[in-house]
Amino acid sequence: ASMNATTFVNHVIDRFEMATKNQEIQFKRKIPDRAIPVMGDRDKLTQLLDNIISNAIKYSPEGGTITCTLKPEKDRVVISVKDEGVGIPKDNIPHVFDRFYRVDKARSRNLGGTGLGLAIAKEIVNAHAGHIWVSSEWGRGTTFSFTLPYDEVEGDGS
Ligand code: ATP
Ligand code: MG
Repeated sequence: ASMNATTFVNHVIDRFEMATKNQEIQFKRKIPDRAIPVMGDRDKLTQLLDNIISNAIKYSPEGGTITCTLKPEKDRVVISVKDEGVGIPKDNIPHVFDRFYRVDKARSRNLGGTGLGLAIAKEIVNAHAGHIWVSSEWGRGTTFSFTLPYDEVEGDGS
């Protein structure tokens, strides 16, 4: 179904902001003011963004900033979530979307989880004919990005 990506992303962040204390995590938004129509299943996309933002919080230190960006490109919309957390070592990056994969078993065990969040995220993105990828630097932070297709408005000439 068609939905407005701008209000969608803002609402998800609003919910996380209400659930976290200010000194815990700060959210920054780089989101256009105008409506951006995309095609998507709202419930599934909510689960996708929830999984990515909850990772950003989980793997960030207290007082970290999470920056959520909504970028309209020519043929697709890119949504990214950047954190200032522990990062992912280069050798582990190719595996983070695998089911049950967790980077550092000892580290992750304290934080809880099953290692399914990103595998589900990837399935949802694939079902929307999009892409998901990560760029990360160990000890510096991580950015997860995914794409969504525009809802092409009939007769706009593009
Ligand atoms: P679950 O999501 O099932 O509760 P999880 O968070 O461990 O458990 P995933 O969300 O699939 O599992 O993430 C897989 C692994 O990738 C994590 O265990 C963690 O090691 C690493 N990871 C994911 N997101 C980040 C991030 N933002 N910063 C650093 N490491 C991350
Ligand atoms: Mg997770």
